[in-house]
Amino acid sequence: MIACLGRIVHGTEADADVSTISQSLDLQGSIESGGITGVSDKDFGGIYSVKPLALIKPSGTEDIARVVKAASRTSHLTVAARGNGHCINGQAMAEGGLVIDMRSTEENHFKLLTIDGSPYIDVSGGALWEDVLKRCVSLFGMAPRSWTDYLSLTVGGTLSNAGVSGQAFRYGPQTSNVTELEVVTGKGEITVCSETQNSELFFGALGGLGQFGIITRASVKLQPAPDMVRWIRLVYSEFEEFTRDAEFLVTREEGESFDYVEGFVFSNSDDPINGWPSVPLDTDHEFNPVHIPHSAGSVLYCLEVALHYSNGDHPSTIETAVSGVLERLGFVRRLKFQVDVSYVEFLLRVKRVEEHAKANGIWDSPHPWLNIFVSKSSIFDFDRTVFRKMLKAGVGGPMLIYPLLRSKWDDRTSVVLPEGDIFYIVALLRFVSKGQSVEKLVAQNHEIVKWCKKEGLGFKLYLPHYQSREDWKRHFGNQWSRFVERKLSFDPMAILAPGQRIFKRTH
Ligand code: FAD
Repeated sequence: MIACLGRIVHGTEADADVSTISQSLDLQGSIESGGITGVSDKDFGGIYSVKPLALIKPSGTEDIARVVKAASRTSHLTVAARGNGHCINGQAMAEGGLVIDMRSTEENHFKLLTIDGSPYIDVSGGALWEDVLKRCVSLFGMAPRSWTDYLSLTVGGTLSNAGVSGQAFRYGPQTSNVTELEVVTGKGEITVCSETQNSELFFGALGGLGQFGIITRASVKLQPAPDMVRWIRLVYSEFEEFTRDAEFLVTREEGESFDYVEGFVFSNSDDPINGWPSVPLDTDHEFNPVHIPHSAGSVLYCLEVALHYSNGDHPSTIETAVSGVLERLGFVRRLKFQVDVSYVEFLLRVKRVEEHAKANGIWDSPHPWLNIFVSKSSIFDFDRTVFRKMLKAGVGGPMLIYPLLRSKWDDRTSVVLPEGDIFYIVALLRFVSKGQSVEKLVAQNHEIVKWCKKEGLGFKLYLPHYQSREDWKRHFGNQWSRFVERKLSFDPMAILAPGQRIFKRTH
């Protein structure tokens, strides 16, 4: 088998007999040669593309372990787990290597567990969060606690980064909501790990950018699912008031705040995508610019909040709970928008955006996105220069900004955060329209990061992407040596996730 892989790697057999490889690997699943796959060299970013040797559709963990072991017996093959390929910069690709389509294992686990009296769901690393949601709600009336905004992402893909949305202020990122993982390491070993068992691998894999192992199963914490959500958007003209209220909400106790807190910046203009029309939650709502205070500048801010409730709750109870919190906030009173939607509909809200963008042809065009965690101490500088000047016309999609609490993150995981107890996630979710230069948008992202560095802002890239070892070292800072040690322990030949470009494959 190794001879077979080697022959193909060296290109002497252009049309590899993939069935021979499959047989010699003794896979239960299937294998397709690299040139014809169509998914293994593409991602949501649409900026990078490299051809793998082959795409493997494993049937389960054993297959994945066999593939990694086989790669480890060659001198240069790498292996990339591909979740749903929703990264931006080729992180799930493997040039000349083996791409494992984790989606082919998505049905493999689905078991409700009770651990120390709390409910958990055991799911495949290749499962999509949207399926986990639908199945947990319909079968058990329960749901995971911490989400991403968009759910056509895999469990293993988001756990390899962090997984952040408007619930993270209360429950932490998704990486703070798992109790056990099954992982195939870079040595091809299948290891079950948790806080108490193989803990270095457990914490390493969480936020580990796929560097230490392929997550094949995760036990995710559940809570009873609410029936409904009141979803509210509140407009601010002043950044000081917006951040004060957002921080107020994320530091309140449960019951004194909302269940979801996010925010975004939009252009103070009538631009249909970047401006006022992007705010209302319903086509019946109108954003009347007459209400914008005269002091407003080039951009405005919107706090987006949501309260869970059940069908049995009396409308007056919900009204009292909502108004009790809203009356303490300083938003523009006449610029408040709200709708009531089912909990599942709320969590699948970006799916509607996807359908719309697909119909307009912009979902499949490139997405030069930039995600940054910015310290509270630097967020005013960031707003002043980046939002109010550089991006005042918008980015063709949402510009998210909302606060997160460091105390909800576990610093034993591989994720790195900027200084301070409160930091903001800033997400520039660019959609490229016809005729726009992707290179220019990528260059603007670089310019923003360069400016943050020059001004000494406290920041870390989220979903980081760097080209040089020096940049990675700087990104990890004092966590770099731990990251390298973990790599040496769990993937000493640097076989896994080559698309992150952190380590080079060794013999
Ligand atoms: P992929 O893109 O396929 O893989 C990403 C990386 O993880 C690769 O290096 C890959 O090798 C590795 N990997 C994949 N599966 C595994 C596994 N099982 N084990 C180990 N490593 C693995 N992120 C947020 O936190 N919050 C959001 O609200 C959010 N919204 C998003 C909305 C959209 C429309 C998109 C496109 C992305 C969004 N993201 C968000 C980012 C998203 O979390 C990451 O891009 C994530 O990596 C995508 O998951 P995926 O399953 O597509 O992984």
